Amino acid sequence: MTEESSTHFIHEIIENDLAANKIETIITRFPPEPNGYLHIGHAKAIHLDFGTAQKYAGRCHLRFDDTNPEAEDEQYVHAIQEDIRWLGYDWGENLYWASSYFNQMETYARQLIEQGNAYVCDLTQEAFKTYRGIPTQPGQEPPGRHRTIQENLDLFDQMRNGDHPNGAYVLRAKIDMTSPNLHLRDPAIYRIKHATHHHTGDSHCIYPMYDFAHCIEDSIEGITHSLCTLEFEVHRPLYEWILTQLNLYRPQQIEFARLNITYTVMSKRKLLQLVQENHVNGWDDPRLPTISGMRRRGFTPTAIRNLCTQVGCTKFESLTEIERLEACVRDDLNETSPRAMAILDPIKLIIENYPADQTEQLEIANHPQNESYGTRTVPFTRECYIEREDYMDDAPNKFKRFTLGREVRLRGAYCVTCTHVEKDEKGNVTTLHTTYDPETRGVNPPDGRKVRGTVHWVSTAHAIDAEIRLYDRLFTNENPLADKDKPFTDFLNPDSLQRCQAKLEPSLQTANPGDRFQFERVGYFCADLDHTSTTPTFNRTLTLRAAKKI
Ligand code: ATP
Ligand code: MG
Repeated sequence: MTEESSTHFIHEIIENDLAANKIETIITRFPPEPNGYLHIGHAKAIHLDFGTAQKYAGRCHLRFDDTNPEAEDEQYVHAIQEDIRWLGYDWGENLYWASSYFNQMETYARQLIEQGNAYVCDLTQEAFKTYRGIPTQPGQEPPGRHRTIQENLDLFDQMRNGDHPNGAYVLRAKIDMTSPNLHLRDPAIYRIKHATHHHTGDSHCIYPMYDFAHCIEDSIEGITHSLCTLEFEVHRPLYEWILTQLNLYRPQQIEFARLNITYTVMSKRKLLQLVQENHVNGWDDPRLPTISGMRRRGFTPTAIRNLCTQVGCTKFESLTEIERLEACVRDDLNETSPRAMAILDPIKLIIENYPADQTEQLEIANHPQNESYGTRTVPFTRECYIEREDYMDDAPNKFKRFTLGREVRLRGAYCVTCTHVEKDEKGNVTTLHTTYDPETRGVNPPDGRKVRGTVHWVSTAHAIDAEIRLYDRLFTNENPLADKDKPFTDFLNPDSLQRCQAKLEPSLQTANPGDRFQFERVGYFCADLDHTSTTPTFNRTLTLRAAKKI
């Protein structure tokens, strides 16, 4: 299924709106709050917002919902833009800020007061909740509800002018304290916050609440379809109430189920906690489900977009298995990553009958199926490294790799036969001694005998040393948040990061940060961002195949 061919209930709504000539140009928006890095859940929203605009030749706005200065930061603004671009989407000139509408929003707030639709309330936070009540019982009218319009205007001006401390007053919409929907029980729409804003500095000390701000932002920008996650369904009546009272254009809000994935957590608050408590190394730690973490891990934008297309868009909460994401990554990397050879747990192999002073430059294909990836030369000598697990004492017949007397092909080179092994005092194999058949360079033995196994290797004289980081799932539990009695950090996987020193073929010396490879027979790897020519570092993206489920 390509992105363009994907279709779901939101696309049906849009197609009906277009067919009925209700709308000419589809305008969507992606409205992140710059209070953390984007995660794969956001990728679903981005895919939907930008993808839908693309599909119907409309446009998608990137709008920073920056109404909460204390939690927000420029660092996040930059990271969010980088991540969206990396995912393959572009907002062009349509970059907007909630904060650029602050003056306009204050004017609208005054308008509501003047219409008798809003009032200033001085209840403490606790009393606010008591008066609001619970869904099954009506709330009570707060004392300030019957202030005169003039009193409310004066108080609001004082709030604006900084005459009052944080929390002293809020401005509330005057709707219905008995509504079964708590969001309609005179919700707060403005609060006092003496805080410096990363965009507007100290020019405001009152900030609009999300529910007041969001619908106005959508309306000002002429958004046609405001797509958001299901938890906003109960906010929709408020969204519509505010715009109706202000007599403003009313976009259509449509809710969809958020993306949840097993073995991880997705909320920015939880991710921030993992970062701040040093359970991971920063927002771009390759174990996190952040876009920047997945990028550093070696996941591709194509794979992430494919996952989003596959899971589609519904109104039902669900939990997507992480294996689905991993399968998308493997499918893409299998097609797009050049091959190379690396030994993660090296032992030596010596070819007794190969000339000690000889080096052959073997030409090896970079991709088994795709010739356009070309070839590279790999030096071959008398001594090389192979993986420890490619040798076994007394191996059963189905073990196709090295054991005494068995002939095995060194990938792209010769067939060699193990004659004897050296072990250290603990009994671990250190060196395989072998002989080779000079007639088998890159071809089957001329006498027709069968060589069943092929292993990868790296010439010891040419090998480069690298650090390899083996990443595994961050949590041991499918849903780390399910157990309400335990903090989710109890389920962190202690083995989620392991390091090893590897021997790489020399062509990998020139890998650039972010370059992805399949290390043959070992897995997919990505040169780390702080990968340098002196100490190359590779992150394991994934093993070659999914582990079997037990
Ligand atoms: P979080 O719950 O992780 O803190 P958020 O919803 O507070 O995220 P925002 O910056 O407000 O983060 O999100 C921007 C947009 O991304 C919103 O429209 C939101 O609905 C959407 N979004 C956030 N999380 C998901 C998710 N898991 N799946 C799909 N869309 C999501
Ligand atoms: Mg939010």
